[in-house]
Amino acid sequence: MIRNDKASVYILGSLALLLFLSVAPAAALGDGETAPTRDAKQPVDDVYTAKIKKYTTQPFFTSPLVDYLPASKNVPTPEAVLGDVAGAPGILPYAEDVYKYMRLLEKASPCVKVFSIGKTEEGREMIAVAVSSLENLKNLEENRARLAKLADPRTIKLDDEEADRIVAQAVPVYYITGTIHSPETGAPTALMELAYRLAVDESPYIREIRDGMITLITPVVEVDGRDRMVDIYRWHLSHPKDFYPPLIYWGKYVAHDNNRDAMGVTLKLTENVLNTYVGWKAQVLHDLHESVPYLYDNTAGDGPFNAWVDPILTDEWEMIGWRNVSDMTKFGMPGVFTHGVFDTWSPGYLMFIAAMHNGISRLYETFGNGGADTLPRTLDPEEYARTWYRQNPPLPKVLWSQRDNNNYEQTGLLTSLHYFNENKRLFLKNFYLKAKRSVTKPGAEGPAAYVLPSDDPRASSEAELLRVLQKQAVEISRATAAFTVTLPVKKSAKPRKDAKDAKEKDTPPAPTTREFPAGSYIVRMDQPYSRIADALLDYQYWSPDDPQKTPYDDTGWTFGELFCVQVTRVTDPKVLDVAIERVKEIHAPAGVSGDGTIYAINNTAEPALATLRYKLHDTSIEAAEEPFESGGKKFSRGSFLLRNVTRSQLNDAISDLGLQATPVSAMPSVKTHPVRAARVALVHTWLSTQAEGWWRIAFDNLSIPYDYISTQVVAKTSDLNAKYDVILFPPVGFFSSPTAIINGLPSAWGNPLPWKNTPETPNLVGKNDSTDDMRPGLGWEGVANLQNFVAKGGVLLTATDTSRFALSIGLADGVSVGNAQKMKIVGSVVGTRLVDAASPIAYGYDEKLSAYCDNGPIFSLSSVSGARGFRRLGGEMHSRPTGRGTADDQDFTIGRPGAEVPEEPKAEIWENPLLTDEQLHNNFRAIPPANRARVIFRYADGKELLISGLVEGGEEIAQHAAVVDVPTGNGHVVLFSINPVYRGETRGTYSLVLNTILNFDNLNAGRKLAEK
Ligand SMILES: [Zn+2]
Repeated sequence: MIRNDKASVYILGSLALLLFLSVAPAAALGDGETAPTRDAKQPVDDVYTAKIKKYTTQPFFTSPLVDYLPASKNVPTPEAVLGDVAGAPGILPYAEDVYKYMRLLEKASPCVKVFSIGKTEEGREMIAVAVSSLENLKNLEENRARLAKLADPRTIKLDDEEADRIVAQAVPVYYITGTIHSPETGAPTALMELAYRLAVDESPYIREIRDGMITLITPVVEVDGRDRMVDIYRWHLSHPKDFYPPLIYWGKYVAHDNNRDAMGVTLKLTENVLNTYVGWKAQVLHDLHESVPYLYDNTAGDGPFNAWVDPILTDEWEMIGWRNVSDMTKFGMPGVFTHGVFDTWSPGYLMFIAAMHNGISRLYETFGNGGADTLPRTLDPEEYARTWYRQNPPLPKVLWSQRDNNNYEQTGLLTSLHYFNENKRLFLKNFYLKAKRSVTKPGAEGPAAYVLPSDDPRASSEAELLRVLQKQAVEISRATAAFTVTLPVKKSAKPRKDAKDAKEKDTPPAPTTREFPAGSYIVRMDQPYSRIADALLDYQYWSPDDPQKTPYDDTGWTFGELFCVQVTRVTDPKVLDVAIERVKEIHAPAGVSGDGTIYAINNTAEPALATLRYKLHDTSIEAAEEPFESGGKKFSRGSFLLRNVTRSQLNDAISDLGLQATPVSAMPSVKTHPVRAARVALVHTWLSTQAEGWWRIAFDNLSIPYDYISTQVVAKTSDLNAKYDVILFPPVGFFSSPTAIINGLPSAWGNPLPWKNTPETPNLVGKNDSTDDMRPGLGWEGVANLQNFVAKGGVLLTATDTSRFALSIGLADGVSVGNAQKMKIVGSVVGTRLVDAASPIAYGYDEKLSAYCDNGPIFSLSSVSGARGFRRLGGEMHSRPTGRGTADDQDFTIGRPGAEVPEEPKAEIWENPLLTDEQLHNNFRAIPPANRARVIFRYADGKELLISGLVEGGEEIAQHAAVVDVPTGNGHVVLFSINPVYRGETRGTYSLVLNTILNFDNLNAGRKLAEK
C-alpha cells in the first residue's frame, strides 16, 4: 500500500498542527553545543529530499537531521542500488544489494571502508562498514593499539595517568548492528542512508561525528534470514491479495533466539559480531530492532539488572538513553522513550556482548511494518498511554511507513553518535575503568578465579565449556603443578547442631581446603574479560518476591551445572599465585592407551560417545549393562566395548573427541548389548522451528546423522518403521497445544502458504525443508502413523510441549499431566535425581543432574490405564481416621476386639503406585508391571529444586518424574519434562537423548518389575 489521502483521517488535526508548529530544532542549545542543522552552503539532493518528504506520513515523524539529503558530486546515494530512496514503499533490498551499495560508497568516498567479518551457516557473507574521517581511517591500526591498551589495562600496569593520556588521543568506536530479527526489516536501508550521511554531510553536527569517532556498521546481522524475508516480501508484492507465508525459518537453525545466543555463542552471527566487537575494541554495541512504537530505547529497560554489569555501565545507559529522549522530544518526534517492561537480567542478547566486555550495550525497538508497505496502524491503550517514562507517547492511530521508521532509526542513531562524541573522553575513560575493575575484581567483589579440575570425568564436555569461554575472549590457564586453595565457609542460617555450648555456637565452622591436580584449568578473574566468565559460571538467584513478575527471558543459566562439569568458584587470592601456562587450544586428554583386540571406553555421559558410534559404522560396539573392572580401572554402566577395530583406527576416531580407550584382555563377565547406529528422524512442525533448531545444531555439531522431516511427512508415511528406529519430536515451542500440532494452521479459508523455492523466492528453502502449503499439521493420520510406529517397536522421544501432546492423544499410557496452580519456573536450572541407574537412558550419569526447565509439564504416574489429570500429592492423602490414640495408633470400637488394618502400599511421588488386591480384582485397566512407565530421572525435592534462576511454587513439580520411559506396544515413548537440548547451553543433558538413540532396541535393559 502506498500513501493515500486517507492519511489525514488518522490524525487529530489540531494535535498534528500543534506538534508541527512545535518543531524548533535550533532552539535551546546548551553552551558550546552544535546545532543539529544542515550546512547551508552544501547543496541538497532535491529529488531525493522530495521523496523523503513524500514517504514520510506526518511532518513530525522526521527531524532536521534526516528530512533532507546532502548532495554529492561523486558519492552515490542509496538510490543507485535501491532505485528509490531509503525507506521507500515496496522496496526491501537483499543483503547482497546492501553490500553492493556499501562497496560503492567505499569506492567513492575515502571516509568508508568495508570489512568482511565472516560467513553465516549457509555461507553468506557478513560485513562491517567503518565510516570516519580519512585521517581516522588511515590511522586505524595505531588507534586500535591505543584502544587495546584501554581495553586491557594490564598493558599499562593499571596506570590511570597513562590511561588519561591515551583517552585524550584515542578515537572511539561505536558499533551498530541491524536486522538480526528478520521480520524487522527497516534497519538495512536506514543504515545505508546513515553511512552516506556520515560520509558526505558537511554540517558541523555530522562533521563532528565523522572527525571525532569511528562508526562501525553491520547492516545485516542475520543474513540468511534477511534474504528469506525479502523473498517473502517479493512473493507478497506479486500476490497482493493473498496471505503470505510466515517466516518459519530465519537462519538455518533458529529464529528470534538468534538474539539469545550471546552466552553459548553457538551461531556464526554471534561469533562474527563478538569477534568484530572485541577485535575493534569498540566502546558501544547498538543493536536495532522493531516492535514498539515509535522508538523505545530499551537498553535500561526495567529491573532486575544483570548482577554482573558494572554500575558505571548502568549509569551510562541512563545518560545516553535520556539524552536520546530529550533530543528527539525537542525535535517534536512523539513516542520516544527509555525504560519500560524489558528487564535487563539475562546476558543472552546480542547487545550484551558489549555489557559483558566492558562496553556499552544498547538496543532500539522502533516501529516496523514487517516489510515495506505503508499501513494504517492502531495501537493498544498500553502502547499509547502516557507514563512517567513516556511523557510524549505515540498516537493511538496513524498511517505508518518504512520511511517513518527509517527517520526514527537514523535520528536516534545520529543524536546518540553526536552525544557520544561530545562526551567521548568520559566514555573512553569509563571503558578503561570498567576494564580496570574487571582486572581488579579478585581484590574487590571477587572471586579470584574459577577452577575446572584436570581430572573431571567429563573431559570432553569440560573442554567444550572452556571453548565457549575462549570464544568469549576469556583467557584460560592451566596449573603446572597441583595446588590447594581454601574454600569459603558456607554461612548457615541455623545455629550449628553439633555445637556443645553457646561459645561454640558462635564460632563458625573451620574453612575447608581443596586440592586440584596439576593441569587443572584456572579462569583467572584478574583479566579484562573476567566479567563474562563470572556471569556464565556463577549462580543466579531471582527472588520470587522480586517486584518484576514477568521475567523477559531465562532467569538462570549456570554453565558448569548445565554442562555437567565441575566448576569451583575460588575466592582465595592464593589461587592467583599458582604457577600457570596460558592455553591457546583446549584439548581434552584422548587416545588409546595400549594394544588389544577389545577396547573399553568408560561411559560418563559424554555426547562424544554418540559421535563415535556413527563415526565407526563398521565397528561392533557393545554396551555393558553393569559396572565392571578391568586392569584396576573401573567402568560404569553403558561403557563401550569395541571389537573389529585397530588401535590406530580407534585412536584416529577418538583423538579429537576427547575420549580415552583402554585395551581389555577379555570381554567382561557382565551382560552386554549391541550399540547400533539407529536411523533417526527429527520431526518439525510448520508452526515454529526454533526450539527444534537448537536440537538440529547440536546434532550437526556432534556429526550425528538424522532425517529432517515435517509432521506433514509423518502424516504421509504409513510405515515409519521401514525408515526409522527413533523419531525425535523436540519441543515446538511457545507451549504449543496438541490441537495446534494436529490441525496445523487454519486451512478452512485463505490460500495455500507455500514454503519452497520459486523464481520470486530463490532463498526460501536454503538447506531446510519445503512444502507446497504450510498449513496442514500432523493430522489424525499422522497420529495413527506415530502410534503404529511405536506399536511396531519404534522409539518416539518427546520433550515439554510434545510430551504433553503425546500424552494427551494417548500415545503413552500410565502417565498424566497435572496443571500447575502457582508454579513459576521461568527458564531456570533445576536439580534432578537419578531414579533408575540401570536404564540405558541413564548411562554415564551420577545421582544428581542439573537440567533446564521452563514450567515443564508435571508428570504423574499411574498403574491404571486412562487415569489422568491429577497431580499426586504424596503420603498425606491416606492418614488414619479420627479416633482414639495418637496419629500412629489404631482406633478401637467399644465392645469388640481390635481389627488389624491392612498395610497400604506406599509409593513415592515419582513412582508408580502399587495396586492392592482390591484394586486388581477384575481390573482390566490395571497396567501389567512390564507395561508401566519407568522413571529414569525425577525432579529433586522442593528444597533442592532451585539451582539457578527463579523457582516459585516448586513443590508442585518437586519429586515428580522428569524423564520417563513408557513401554508401548513393542516400542517406547520417552517423555521429557525438562528440555534436554537448549540454546547450546545444556550439553550436560544431551546424553539423555543420545543414550535413548544408542540403546533404542534395548531400552528395557536392567529393568526391575514390580511384583503385581
Ligand atoms: Zn527484535
